[in-house]
Amino acid sequence: MKLIARSRSMRIIDKTAAQVRSLTPAEDALLVDFATGGLTGPRLLQANQMLMKVRNANQWLACDCRTDALPVLNVTLNGNTGTLFLKNNPGTAEHAPGCPFTKDEQEAAERAQAPVQPVAWLPPDTPLRLIGDFRTGASTSTNGPGERREQQRLLALLLTWIETSGLNLYATHLKQDLTGQFAQLRAVASRYPLVERVPASNYLETRLDMKHMMMLKARLREATIFGNHRRHGLLLDCIDQIKGRKVFHYRSEDGFDFQGHHLYWGGQRTCGPLLTLALYSPTTPGSHFFELIHVASVPVLSRGHLFPVYRDEEREPLKALVSLVDWMASKGVKVQMRRPVVGGQLMDELVMTSDQDRVLSISLLEQPIGPEPDTENFKRYADFKSPETFRKFVAGFFMRER
Ligand SMILES: [Zn+2]
Repeated sequence: MKLIARSRSMRIIDKTAAQVRSLTPAEDALLVDFATGGLTGPRLLQANQMLMKVRNANQWLACDCRTDALPVLNVTLNGNTGTLFLKNNPGTAEHAPGCPFTKDEQEAAERAQAPVQPVAWLPPDTPLRLIGDFRTGASTSTNGPGERREQQRLLALLLTWIETSGLNLYATHLKQDLTGQFAQLRAVASRYPLVERVPASNYLETRLDMKHMMMLKARLREATIFGNHRRHGLLLDCIDQIKGRKVFHYRSEDGFDFQGHHLYWGGQRTCGPLLTLALYSPTTPGSHFFELIHVASVPVLSRGHLFPVYRDEEREPLKALVSLVDWMASKGVKVQMRRPVVGGQLMDELVMTSDQDRVLSISLLEQPIGPEPDTENFKRYADFKSPETFRKFVAGFFMRER
């Protein structure tokens, strides 16, 4: 008797994990050869063109090697060499044994050595379980072994929502006001259940103030849908700063206390504005007293533009780049700028892409992370004489004729 092996194939997905299309057998074979390093010449070029299209469309690749989970890969640009490669998303499922897209040893080693662990991508339609249930018995300690993982999940959720809602992508024709940006975040939240059958968007307020906390509390108190799970909701807002265990909003001088930890992106605190996601729950079983538990924050460009920044020093040059992108659009040159917050190689990496396939990877930091660049595809703001020479370079890069 012959065993028929499950045929493995790849498909292109968008960041809500919805299928865009499956790959043809020829495309799939091309990617297998690409992933295993077996391509040269025109076939390598063909693979690169295909991957660049996926990347520019803000899409990912999903591998069908398993029936019970979905390993997801992104197309990453090595800013140093200008080459593309396939990278398994942090936190994504392992491939089936023998799958050619298995996380390679180098990838695993890189991760172990990275000073800051990359944040996991959280797949939609999977219960988040951001907070453990109250344990029966004496201990209500908040330092259990699952505690650290819970906190990390809150930050992972915030970054996943930023990535999925497209807040980390700027293009003139996609510009949205603040209401539109929060609407995107709420739409994404509807795909993320807190626990089984409880979409996060049902217990999410996008204002962090007393009034909205009271509204959320009232809904949580009446909720029966949590069953035996600890009731909890989320508050998401752009705030001024987090100091000690207090969150400070622009609208009020009195901060809001939180019980647990502040998770911040990038291993270092950055001043506001911060897009902040807070977990809201009773502190003891049966209590009607709700509190902010953990908060996660990601610095953003400004109060009106929630584009993620890694460090405060990026804000001024980034604002200049936004107006440059707008100016180029007015001249008919469409350029989009993206910061990959999930699956990116380096946190300071900003990738600018034109619809004519030109790609420029830049770091705006005074001391960029990563190795010395040696190609035309990666530039450091710090290496330019002035903001004006940088601006001229970027404009020239995208606007010069081929
Ligand atoms: Zn696989």
